[in-house]
Amino acid sequence: MTLTGAELERYSRQLVMAEWSGTAQRRLGEARVMVLGVGALGTPVATYLVGAGVGHVVLVDSDVVELSNLHRQTVHSTGDLGTAKVESAAARLRALNPEVHVEPLRLRVDVRTAPGLVAGASLVVDCSDSFDTRYAVNDACCAAGVPLVEAGVLGLGGLVLSIRPGRSACYRCAFPTPPPAGAVPSCREAGVLGPMAGIVGSHQALEALKLVAEVGEPLLDRLLQIEGRDATQTIVSVRRRPDCPACARVAAAAQ
Ligand SMILES: [Zn+2]
Repeated sequence: MTLTGAELERYSRQLVMAEWSGTAQRRLGEARVMVLGVGALGTPVATYLVGAGVGHVVLVDSDVVELSNLHRQTVHSTGDLGTAKVESAAARLRALNPEVHVEPLRLRVDVRTAPGLVAGASLVVDCSDSFDTRYAVNDACCAAGVPLVEAGVLGLGGLVLSIRPGRSACYRCAFPTPPPAGAVPSCREAGVLGPMAGIVGSHQALEALKLVAEVGEPLLDRLLQIEGRDATQTIVSVRRRPDCPACARVAAAAQ
């Protein structure tokens, strides 16, 4: 894959970086990345991946745009109310970068659909907002050996973890037991500030670009916790658990 003159100019500010290279850019161009959820986290993730030149970005979401989404989900506009989020986002993202193949998929991500969605992907970015989905996506990525960037945001806090199945701790290694139903308030109940979703989602986008381009040191075995209230960030070490059922599927799949 050779970059055209327009692509060289479009991506010039990242190509000129000491850490970046034509090889890194080509790795992006050849990648197929699944963005699961086009809401609060999916907004910065999809925008920066498409802007950076990931070759094929698949957007997966079953929801429509609602008025209460717009303060943080800035990939959508007031005129998009009632429109499927994947269609609204795809239109905006194609306008941002027509070089990228943006594929909208209006589908609910759950334990039934996750394995088919992650199969064949270069990388999955989980921008969902439910624990059930997060564990389903983690387990599907482990079984398929597909790298994954997990994140969550609520109120003024958030976390990010990158996962290379079989090589680093997975989400289930870090959080072996899902919280009991109702123990963690939803976004609807606890709320979230727009910039907090932007900060956490931007970290998630950065991790995705690093993993695909093979640049820098991703958050493998390191859980990033971000506290917006006092602007602090903490790295917590996590490690693979020998009894993790999701990681056991990596080993089984490799045999
Ligand atoms: Zn695990």
